[in-house]
This record gives sequence, C-alpha cells and structure tokens, in this order.
Amino acid sequence: MKRRVYGVETEFGINYHNPDAKPLTPEEVARYLFKPVVRWGRSSNVFIPNGARLYLDVGSHPEYATAECDNLLDLIAQDKAGEWIFSKLVAQAQQAMAEDGFHGRVFLLKNNTDSKGNSFGSHENYLIPRKTEYRRLTEILIPFLVTRQFLAGAGRVVPATEEQPAHFSFSQRADFVLDAVSSATTRSRPIINTRDEPHADASLHRRLHVIVGDSNMSETTQLLRFGSTEIILRMIEEGVIFGDKRIANPIRAIQELSHDMTGQTLIQLATGETISGLDLQEFFLEKAKSFIAKEGPHHEHVEPVLELWEKVLTAVRSEDYSSIETDIDWAIKHKLLVAYQEKHGLDWADPRIRQLDFTYHDIDPARGLFNVLQARGQATRVLTDSDIGHAMEHAPATTRAALRGRFVNETHARGEDINVDWVHMRANNKPIELVLVKDPFQTESEKMDRLIELLGEPDPDYQHPDWLRA
Ligand code: ATP
Ligand code: MG
Ligand code: MG
Repeated sequence: MKRRVYGVETEFGINYHNPDAKPLTPEEVARYLFKPVVRWGRSSNVFIPNGARLYLDVGSHPEYATAECDNLLDLIAQDKAGEWIFSKLVAQAQQAMAEDGFHGRVFLLKNNTDSKGNSFGSHENYLIPRKTEYRRLTEILIPFLVTRQFLAGAGRVVPATEEQPAHFSFSQRADFVLDAVSSATTRSRPIINTRDEPHADASLHRRLHVIVGDSNMSETTQLLRFGSTEIILRMIEEGVIFGDKRIANPIRAIQELSHDMTGQTLIQLATGETISGLDLQEFFLEKAKSFIAKEGPHHEHVEPVLELWEKVLTAVRSEDYSSIETDIDWAIKHKLLVAYQEKHGLDWADPRIRQLDFTYHDIDPARGLFNVLQARGQATRVLTDSDIGHAMEHAPATTRAALRGRFVNETHARGEDINVDWVHMRANNKPIELVLVKDPFQTESEKMDRLIELLGEPDPDYQHPDWLRA
C-alpha cells in the first residue's frame, strides 16, 4: 500500500432567517457560533482534539480544516466530523441568541454559493514529492479537474440571466473560477493554488492545493472525488505519458461544461483538437484503468473508485442518471428537485426549487435535505455514524495528527495555554520545549513525551465541552 497525506478544508455559508424582527448579519451570527470555541480555546482559531483546525477568518465563513489523513475513509470521516461539530455549535448559538432576544433560525450550509452570488470554497490538499515536475503536473491535472465535475459536482440551480433561462448545472463552484493556476485564493480564484506552503520539509514535499472542488455532502461522492484525483496524481508521479491534453481556455471550458448536463459540449485543446468534456474525462478513466491493471491497486479503495468512476460516466453518457442517483451529489439533488417539480408543477425558475437546492446542504441532521435522504437510505454510504462520532473525538492514528490530538487533549486537561499550527506545538509556559513535527507521517515523539511529563498531573475532572463530543 502506498500512502499519501490528504486534508480538506470546508468554508461554510451562514444564513439567518427571522421574518419578524431585525436581521442579524452573518458576522454577528458567526460570533455567536464561535462563542463556545473562544471560551474553550481562547481564540477563534483553534486546533481541536481530532487534530483539525476550526477557525473564523475575517468575514463570515466559518472554516473547518481536517487533520492530515493517510487514507480516504479517514479523510471522509474527519470531514463529516466537522459537520457534526458545527451542527452542535449551531444548536448552542441558537440558544444563546434566544437568551439575547434573537429568535430567528440559524442555518449552516455546506455549499459553495449563496443567494447573493458570493462563493466560498472546498480546498483539497495532497502531499506530493518535491521532485514531481510541477508544471507537468498542472498541465495534466487541470483538464482532469475541469471535467471532474461530472464525478463530484454538488449540483446547482442556476437562476435565470439575460442569456439563459434558469436550469440545473453539475457544479456549484465552476461559475466562480477565474484562473487556472495562481498563488492567490480569493482575488483570482484559481483551479490550483500555487502558493508554496508545504507544512512539511520543503526539500522533500510539496502540498498540492486544489481549490476548484464543490463541497460534498455524499460520502460516496467524496470517495470518488479524492480517490480519482489521487490515482491521477499517482500516475503523474510514476511518469505515465498522457500526451498533450491542455485545454485552450480552461475557465471557459469548466463553465460551459457545468451548464450542459449531456457532457457533450466540445472543448478546444491547446493542440487545436476538439473533444467533448465527457470524452476527455473518459480518457482519464481509461488511462487509470490500464495503469492499475498493469501496476496493481496501490491501496484498498482503488478498485471501488474505478468502478464508481465508470458507472458515473456511463450514466452521464446515457443521460439516464438512475444508476447513480444515490451515489453522486448532483444526481441525488437532481432526482429530488425533479420529483418536487413534477409533483407541484414547477420549473427551475421557481424560488421554491432554488430554496430546496440550498436546503440540500443544510448540515442540520434533521432538517438538511441530504441528511434526510441519507437517513431514509436514499444516499449510499462508505462510513457508519459511529465512524464519524469516533472522528469527532479522535485524530487519525497514522499521521502526525495523532501527536497533535494527544497534545491538545493533554494540555487542555491541565488548563495550559497553547500555541499550535500544522507543524508546531508549544505550551506557552514551557516555551523552550517546542515540538516540531515536519514529517506528516510521524506518530511518535520523545520530545512530546517529555513535554507532557513536565506539565504535571492532569485535572481528573476535566472534560471537553459537549460540542467536541460525539
Ligand atoms: P488558509 O486556508 O488559512 O489560507 P492553508 O491552506 O494552510 O491556509 P488550512 O485551513 O490551515 O489551510 O488547512 C490546511 C490543510 O492542509 C488541512 O486540511 C491539513 O490537514 C492539510 N495538510 C497539512 N499539512 C499537509 C501536508 N504536508 N500535505 C497535505 N496536506 C496537508
Ligand atoms: Mg483554510
Ligand atoms: Mg487553504
């Protein structure tokens, strides 16, 4: 088995609905949301016992960045744990707001666009060897990512404009992408962010930062999204020849493909050749299948990923989505919305349809439409609830996140003031004992053992607050 470190960052959208009284701004709601976080961690930017980072940047998009994971199921569980943690924080915020006389309802949405046309992201991080030729990597990866929306788009109801009537598209994020590669994330909003911050030994590693993806609700969709991307990375690293598949205008292509549910839109390659979006994605699947047939699977999820990949492309090609309507976010959502339209005689332009699109992404377990469908068995899973509960309280055991989780647990149980980032851990009253973990696969540290010993006995009554517990 070949390991790789992965992490995913999710920015959530906040909605506050109070038809009767003065509205609160998303910033004000975010402050309520983070009150318990600040109380516990003395900051609105904290690392929690499962090794993840929870923070509120300027603005109003709370973010959860998973701990480093080295297998796909851990990654998905860690990501889902973030939804569960935030849904507990929503309930607490709701209560605190009511005590202050605000009786509206708070919604936290795991999607990528709000009703005002703002966009927020879902960022993937993949550890890659420094020696990988970066330019070749991006030249191969961008055409893959432009067409990956067939596999992992979260679906979106696009409101009518002067050019187009309201309709359904594959992707949440595609219309907001402005650049192919760039070192800025917000201003230019690229497909790949090239800022070189490896959170590891820079002479050995690089952290590939893919920021074009949609936030996913479905566990199987996530398996396909991260799994297919990882296989392509592995092939690039092994020197597989892909030929020149550079797209002449990737931004135009990603947007046009998103809006054509047949996948047949033709895109122009840099070589002058034209190819349909679906054929281009199929090219990557066929390459991956022959690579794996030759080399053998490099981890236990490779084969299920290839099967699902093929199933999705077959469904798009036949324009019959029934075989993937429980597996892939856009298809799950499409089925739900079409059924509702038929029942009530509505079309894509109806505001109720747009509202259902948003509600699909509500993280509330009882209210969010995806969660309701999953509870009814209408969304396939790769995890159990107890996997997610476990991931709320435990860091992945096979990466350095295990050390971070231990550090957070031990220091909080002693009321220590701490300073943590992805590679450093320090108790502020023992400043000399800085623990530095540059290797993302490291799970043991004598320095950490010594530091914890120095801190003395834990408070036997200490318990993490409820929002950190399953
Ligand atoms: P920001 O989002 O604040 O601009 P950032 O890109 O560094 O900064 P964070 O939100 O801090 O992002 O999240 C970093 C993500 O990268 C986490 O999900 C983490 O697990 C992951 N990660 C950390 N180190 C590595 C690494 N060496 N390789 C791959 N992923 C990593
Ligand atoms: Mg981030
Ligand atoms: Mg980031």
